[in-house]
Amino acid sequence: MAHLDTLLARAGTEPDPTTGALAPPIHPATTFARREDGSSPDGFVYSRLDNPTRRKLQEALAEAEGGGACVALASGMAAAMTLLQTLGSGDHVLIPQDIYFGVRQLIAAQFERWGLAFSEVDMSRPDNVRAALRPSTRLVWVESPSNPQLNVTDIAAVAQVAHESGAALVVDNTWCTPLITRPLEFGADVVLHSVTKYLGGHSDVLGGALVFAHGSPLFERTDALVREGGAVLDPFGAWLTLRGMRSLGPRLRQQSETAGLLAAWLEQHPAVEAVHYPGLPSHPGHGIALQQMKLFGGMLSFRLREGEGKALDVVRRTRLFANATSLGGTESLMEHRATVEGAGSPTPRNLLRISVGLENVDDLRSDLAQAL
Ligand SMILES: *Cc1c(COP(=O)(O)O)cnc(C)c1O
Repeated sequence: MAHLDTLLARAGTEPDPTTGALAPPIHPATTFARREDGSSPDGFVYSRLDNPTRRKLQEALAEAEGGGACVALASGMAAAMTLLQTLGSGDHVLIPQDIYFGVRQLIAAQFERWGLAFSEVDMSRPDNVRAALRPSTRLVWVESPSNPQLNVTDIAAVAQVAHESGAALVVDNTWCTPLITRPLEFGADVVLHSVTKYLGGHSDVLGGALVFAHGSPLFERTDALVREGGAVLDPFGAWLTLRGMRSLGPRLRQQSETAGLLAAWLEQHPAVEAVHYPGLPSHPGHGIALQQMKLFGGMLSFRLREGEGKALDVVRRTRLFANATSLGGTESLMEHRATVEGAGSPTPRNLLRISVGLENVDDLRSDLAQAL
């Protein structure tokens, strides 16, 4: 297999057989004419079932993650919802304490209603996961580093623990992307992406994806749910995601480098109580991060000594960091997560989360300095 950089740089760009075009076409067609013998060219019948542009993205993403199959969905949350829909009443899902807020909300508000049980555990130690597993646990959900506290989970160890009791492991790899971690290589069964973030990379496409390990029985159930339920990614969304993927390598390398410099600078700032970034030697998960991350990523969070008031003040004062939700774009963002997550948020109130963009590091540092 070619290096990942090469796969990414060429994602979806094999020359079009009729025109030689190197950028892939966007296929908005919803339906496809059958041949005289009734067969469908390349199997395309109707766009909800399969679409040429979406198929290109799915193939590129499956290859980038080292998986056997991929389904592209309308959003990261559509990916989470569809995976949960493969489970049934009485099944149990184990989630980390610090999980993307939307996923906890979805499970608690919607899936408890149809009889899905869930519990939360601190996944920084695999023994905790072992102790929290139940005979009915079908799925263990990992986010590493987690959102927004950047806890690191040992994917290989948790995969082993989950498999010992017959549960499948899904890793939300939105923050890392395959450039940093390929969870299937550490034993995960499914990788989840919000392609809205780093893969799309320009804050202009909403999409999600699930990539399955070779031979995973979860693929067929999920694929059927997507085809029948229709939560698919649209062709333009698939095309934008492919375009974003082609520049993922240089973007995320620069974002990781800048994030590392900002994290180190923030850590010695007198107004800052703590910095959460897996690249810092002071981070409790730094050792595991070294084993399973090729870079430490473009996301970090930090806590203010003077508390919530100061945090809100800093968000208001920054000029380059937009006060906006989401992450993984070319522009730097800063957000007070406890406000956004609302009632029941477990996020510390003095915490700010940063998504590092592609701006010059000195400009970003000066902006933080004046805001602090
Ligand atoms: C944004 C995000 C999601 C949800 O994805 P959407 O595309 O917004 O639906 C899930 N997990 C993580 C880690 C995210 O950052």
